[in-house]
Amino acid sequence: MVVKMSFACLREMFRSFLDVFWLRFLQTSFLHKFIAYCFKILLAPFIFLRFFYLRFLLLRIPYLPQLSLDITSHCTLNCRYCCALLPYDKNRRHSSKEEILEDIHCLLQVVQKIGSLHILGGEALLHPDLPEIMENLIKIARINEIHLITNGSLLPSAELLNVLRNPKVSVEISDYINVQNRCNEVFQCFKKESIHVSFRILSWQNLHFSPSKKRTGKQLKEIFDRCCSKTCLNLRDGIFTRCQSACHLMEIGMVPYKPGDFVNIRHSGSREERKRILRELENLLFNKKFLQACDYCDGYYKDGDLIPVAEQLPFGTFLSLQDENSEGVRDNG
Ligand code: SF4
Ligand code: SF4
Repeated sequence: MVVKMSFACLREMFRSFLDVFWLRFLQTSFLHKFIAYCFKILLAPFIFLRFFYLRFLLLRIPYLPQLSLDITSHCTLNCRYCCALLPYDKNRRHSSKEEILEDIHCLLQVVQKIGSLHILGGEALLHPDLPEIMENLIKIARINEIHLITNGSLLPSAELLNVLRNPKVSVEISDYINVQNRCNEVFQCFKKESIHVSFRILSWQNLHFSPSKKRTGKQLKEIFDRCCSKTCLNLRDGIFTRCQSACHLMEIGMVPYKPGDFVNIRHSGSREERKRILRELENLLFNKKFLQACDYCDGYYKDGDLIPVAEQLPFGTFLSLQDENSEGVRDNG
């Protein structure tokens, strides 16, 4: 009995010694750094960045977790630091309903599904065919959910409200209450119709858009790696890009359309064309080290400097990226 107790006692002592030992060991900065390194280098990229690639390698068809669809470059506001670079865009226009639906149709022939489709602009509610566009998009089974983004300056029409009353749809109002005070009224309007609606709490950051900064490949890669926008997939007028800023920089002619930085997803349906698009999508989504546009902006970072939300320019004022002080931002709402 005594021998048994001493043995149990020794075992307990040994266990507590190990506990203290491991605690001490775990607390050493070396091990702490080592675990953080393993997570950063091995686990995080594997889970967050490689998951969709592995999925693609297995199924040979990409799944898009999120996609922004720009349907117009008209807007009711004129934000100096607009993420869609609207103050630099003198050729504002609505994309046609037919083009928008055809582009989604073409895209769905080369991707498996779209998890979350964000409809935005400009101000999406300005588009005259928005109810019809939404109605058609809702019917597509391979789009899981649809978010309509608005700046909260326009009341929706009865026709639009009718279409949006669907469990697949939610409305997100950008919180620009500091520049116009209709947000609450618009919010209540959707709420009254039992449409899922919420405010997007925004933080804005300066991206410092400017003419080419003449960065080296290594610098561009560093910027791209750190930038949170590099997975903000965007579709505008048949042009599929990795990042909304890159899309608009190319659209206003500031950055050349460099092959590999975008995919023209419009096609006639032939097998060869679909194969070509799939190849280009694979390259853009999974093999890109940086975009040409990263030489014209400073990127968007989690810990970047924030600036006031939606600072306004007088309506009708346009900026030029050649201006020494031209700057750009995006919101992360
Ligand atoms: S950031 Fe401002 S100007 Fe740009 S689309 Fe949104 S509301 Fe319009
Ligand atoms: S650095 Fe600029 S262009 Fe490059 S991914 Fe980020 S936001 Fe887009």
